[in-house]
Amino acid sequence: MIQKSRTWQKVLSKMELQVSAVFFDLWISTLQFIEFKNFDKVVLLASSQTAKTQILKNHISQLETCVEQAFGMGVTVEILDPEEMSEYVTKNNDNPKLQQIQDSIINGENKNPFNPKYIFDNFVVGKCNQFVYAAARAVAEHPGKRFNPLFIYGGVGLGKTHLLHAIGNYIHRNNSDLQIMYVTCEKFTNDYISSLRNGNSESLTSEFREKYRNLDILMIDDIQFISNKTSTQEEFFHTFNDLYQNNKQIIISSDRPPKEISTLEERLSSRFTSGLIQDIQAPDFETKVAILQKKAQLEGYSVDDDVVNFIAEKITSNIRELEGLLGKVYFFATLIGQKTATIETAREAFKEDLDDKKEKIKPEDIVSATCEYFNISDAEIKGKKKSRECVEPRMIAIYLIGELLGIPLISIGKVFNRDHTTIIHARDKITEQLKTDSRLKTIISDIKSKLNF
Ligand code: ADP
Ligand code: MG
Repeated sequence: MIQKSRTWQKVLSKMELQVSAVFFDLWISTLQFIEFKNFDKVVLLASSQTAKTQILKNHISQLETCVEQAFGMGVTVEILDPEEMSEYVTKNNDNPKLQQIQDSIINGENKNPFNPKYIFDNFVVGKCNQFVYAAARAVAEHPGKRFNPLFIYGGVGLGKTHLLHAIGNYIHRNNSDLQIMYVTCEKFTNDYISSLRNGNSESLTSEFREKYRNLDILMIDDIQFISNKTSTQEEFFHTFNDLYQNNKQIIISSDRPPKEISTLEERLSSRFTSGLIQDIQAPDFETKVAILQKKAQLEGYSVDDDVVNFIAEKITSNIRELEGLLGKVYFFATLIGQKTATIETAREAFKEDLDDKKEKIKPEDIVSATCEYFNISDAEIKGKKKSRECVEPRMIAIYLIGELLGIPLISIGKVFNRDHTTIIHARDKITEQLKTDSRLKTIISDIKSKLNF
């Protein structure tokens, strides 16, 4: 059996060179070798029916060739989905090992607990996250040796959980002997509380400690929730110190830096000096676009480029929200039978959200957000000064009022004490410049974020 699964490892290595990294990670690497039936058929289990369909549709001939090269000429491939696996076990009850395999699959042994989509290859690297990405990769490649502990912090939806899973997926694939555990702070707390409940304090701790201290890598996601749980904190410090002293890797994520979680800082600050505290920042316009394009590719959404730009410009830095919007546009497009979602569909999909926002925002809000962004006064933006420091913000504010609120030119003119030709000129100039100027795009997108648009 072991011999055969080694041969299967060879197939995997060959396949890795032949298909895209994303396809390999999502579908091929999750195949499980079941048996080498009658020495002429390799039976494999796909992680889901979708996985099976994807492989049959796209890369079955490469898989067959690789299997023949590794197992011998004329050997065929059979892929089962999880449902077919049960039938297969019943039909082939001559092989008692199959039942064992089936049981171990059901019990989740050896199963990769990490989200297969959250891998390094799917993580778009930009200025906002390049350091944290590099640190996460270094830790995945050399657990316990580089940055220990690694503390990642940043706002909601910026990719912290994605990176933790990417580390997990990497280690599961390349270093599967290592014991690795990912828990949310909530799960850690619940485990601790339930072990307290189930027994006397001796057995509690031994069971709980066995689970958390025999690890090579411990990842705790969203540690900020620990701040008001005194006894869980106490246990966490013991776990932390125990692992740390044994050179085991600890990775922590949080929505704020350690110094804002006072108890953590007090107890662990000396440990942090040997580790790395790295923030993950909000993505700029280009990174948002690249992330959305990656997402569209992964999900098989077909959308026009300007749809992606439109979404990247519109909303906040929370990437989960951006992804949700992309999904919404695509869903709208499929509803009306469109193969590729267009900008018109995107506008239609967001109409209600936008109408809501339009009602809440006033021209003066846009003026003050722009002043704040450029650090100039209300008098300067509305005044007559022709210096670049005033003219650019003025034109941008005019453009934004027109674009976001769609109010008549004359009304915009009143805000700035100017006639409508000046307004048209400003609007057209910015519209034209936006086609090529990515700096300007970023500015516009940042001001819109300020306004929650
Ligand atoms: P957090 O844990 O920081 O709240 P998540 O890791 O859950 O955020 O990320 C939210 C979503 O955004 C996920 O679907 C994730 O895959 C995606 N995402 C975040 N950053 C990136 C990135 N740099 N490249 C690709 N996808 C990203
Ligand atoms: Mg998270």
